[in-house]
Amino acid sequence: MAGKIIDGKKHAATIRAEVKAQGKDCKLAVILVGDDPASIVYINMKKKACEEVGFDFELFKLPETAAQSEVNALIDKLNNDDKITGILVQQPFPAHLNKNEILTRLNPKKDVDCLHPYNVGLAMSGQGSLLPCTPAGCITLLKREGIEIAGKHAVVVGRSDIVGKPLALMLLAENATVTICHSRTKNLAEECLRADILVAAVGIPKLITADMVKENAVVIDVGVNRQGGKVCGDVDFVVLVKALYMTPVPGGVGPMTVATLMENCLKAKALQS
Ligand code: NDP
Repeated sequence: MAGKIIDGKKHAATIRAEVKAQGKDCKLAVILVGDDPASIVYINMKKKACEEVGFDFELFKLPETAAQSEVNALIDKLNNDDKITGILVQQPFPAHLNKNEILTRLNPKKDVDCLHPYNVGLAMSGQGSLLPCTPAGCITLLKREGIEIAGKHAVVVGRSDIVGKPLALMLLAENATVTICHSRTKNLAEECLRADILVAAVGIPKLITADMVKENAVVIDVGVNRQGGKVCGDVDFVVLVKALYMTPVPGGVGPMTVATLMENCLKAKALQS
């Protein structure tokens, strides 16, 4: 019997309604350097979510050739603008810019993506109020579906700073036993087969196939890939036959990332008051 598809769109809509119900004045500022088409799609999703929850939104565009000093000056301006609750610098940045300099320049209390090293440290030690949106969205999905995490063996494939690594730490904080896999993992299939909760955050279409998934596992697919003109995840969807629960792509983790960003704006507002 096929597993249950976790409806990320539905949970995200509930979260947006909860955020809206708080009736807070927030403003999200997004900085885009260049005009990467995928970034523009993601920014539009964030703008739409802001409109839906009643937040102001403003996009600050800089040309692809913008100097580090221009980006820094814009961040300083937004850091000092009391009307701005949250600042997000859309990634990827052009290669000539220094990512660490950008992230450490953000006012940590406005860092709604939770990328400033101060917030990363707080999140790692379990003291963070602001948590990175995609991993926090995954944990929320599991909790809202009533899926037990404590005592489970979670396998996270991918160890990036924005998804894999923080999600592994959050699962650990929820008392899962956690394995992290990456491009140098020797036997990925063997590791994945041990997972009660399997997370794929890699960026390779259908990397995870049915033979790599244990019967009745919970499968969270973070990947967003384009294949043959269609969006697909890192997990072959036929895995649903073996899984107890599985997130679809699109419509799983993606909407939760944006909904969590809205929650983070509220948290940032509270930190600033
Ligand atoms: P990165 O490219 O930063 O990281 C990919 C990770 O996958 C790395 O740790 C890499 O290992 C690992 N990896 C690469 N190849 C393999 C392999 N063959 N076997 C096992 N591990 C491998 O990607 P991100 O973490 O930023 O994103 C991952 C995916 O999630 C992408 O598809 C992205 O589009 C999507 N995403 C979706 C979001 C959403 O809201 N739904 C938000 C953010 C990302 P190593 O470290 O050794 O190089």
